[in-house]
Amino acid sequence: MSKLEEISEHVAVDIKTQYGSRSCVLGGISLGKYSIAIDSGDSLEVGTALHKELEKHFKIPVQYLFLTHTHNDHRNGREAFKDLTLIASQKCIHNMPKSISFSKWKKELFERELIIKEEGLSLELHHVGGHSIGFSVAYFPLEKVLFAGDLFITEPTNFGLPFMGFYQNKPKRTGNPEEYLAAFEKFKSMKIDVIVPGHGELILNPKEYLDEQNSFYYSLKTFFIAEIEDGKGLEEIKIPTLKPIERAHEIIESKPKKSQATRFLDNYLNWIKKSFYNYYSGEFEKLGTS
Ligand SMILES: [Zn+2]
Repeated sequence: MSKLEEISEHVAVDIKTQYGSRSCVLGGISLGKYSIAIDSGDSLEVGTALHKELEKHFKIPVQYLFLTHTHNDHRNGREAFKDLTLIASQKCIHNMPKSISFSKWKKELFERELIIKEEGLSLELHHVGGHSIGFSVAYFPLEKVLFAGDLFITEPTNFGLPFMGFYQNKPKRTGNPEEYLAAFEKFKSMKIDVIVPGHGELILNPKEYLDEQNSFYYSLKTFFIAEIEDGKGLEEIKIPTLKPIERAHEIIESKPKKSQATRFLDNYLNWIKKSFYNYYSGEFEKLGTS
């Protein structure tokens, strides 16, 4: 049975596959004559199923694979689309691990944005960074849907907290909070009814959700700048229990395996802490130029 669900006339998403695999949320957008797959999942099996299901669902061929970013749970199903054209930001392809080659692929790469138009329909791809170097989102203005990838992770995944551990492989860098904040500003100017996150459930209250995320990042920014100005080091800083973190602790209370869940939460919080510390202490910049 198909796992693709129609969320509007030209947009379908697969929320289910992620829960039985290590995949991300998958999707596709129809531009009338052809469709565009959004991310390829964590394995060839997942990518192949997505390719078939998109053709069945929209009854047109898939012409492009758009990769939001370099992480393996989004790219490992790519071979299922190897005869098509790959769309990604230049930075995304540039920062792929050495073992991943797209040299034989037809590619359409972009720096800041790319707009694909067909039969009066358009799909916008915007480079925003933040979660990963070269990270991009897909926006379909007609039906007000934003595929925001791993910029947003919602419950039940990661307790609804962002994952900021792997911005860049070489040299290793953590997330870029300023790029997250700039992306939120960009999204505020878009008309959005639904946000499709990289993991978890759909966001159906985009305005409220964006406001909350914006205030979470902004509060963390203010807090870390003050702590760093006070001369505190990474080890001395304790991340404040802001609302999304408080909610994560509440989720743990409802879990049977509390100690394991606490370990996971500590790990995510540690990456958030490191990202903000590295960015606002100047460590992030230094690593980028080494
Ligand atoms: Zn990711």
